[in-house]
Amino acid sequence: MSHAVNSENPMSVLTEAARTVQQRAWAPYSKFRVGAALESTEGKVFTGCNVENASYPAGICAERGALASAIASGARAFVRVVIVSDADTPAPPCGMCRQALVEFAPALEVVSITTGGQTARWSLADLLPFPFTPSSLAHA
Ligand SMILES: [Zn+2]
Repeated sequence: MSHAVNSENPMSVLTEAARTVQQRAWAPYSKFRVGAALESTEGKVFTGCNVENASYPAGICAERGALASAIASGARAFVRVVIVSDADTPAPPCGMCRQALVEFAPALEVVSITTGGQTARWSLADLLPFPFTPSSLAHA
């Protein structure tokens, strides 16, 4: 799902989109619902929620769900992601999501918000200081 960011206040658009998609999370096992809204450099917003599975490793995080939706729509570069979760303190993306996001947005702004409104901000470069990137595959 995508829609355009209102340039007046991209954060409120992203936060609202993340809150909306969080309500659709499928989290019957952890009861930990997460919504993510990823903004492309073109100003489009792509959302994802966590989708758990009875076979636990088959589940996927909200952030990678949003990324898959964005890539499938043709977006390739991103400026920020807003994550909303049920955690008591703002939850950063897991390691796998950091790795997935760095492929497309090494300098991504990561904003995490609790349902209670507590907010934290990081740069993906700080969350993943030594990323494995396409250039890591280079060999002589
Ligand atoms: Zn994750």
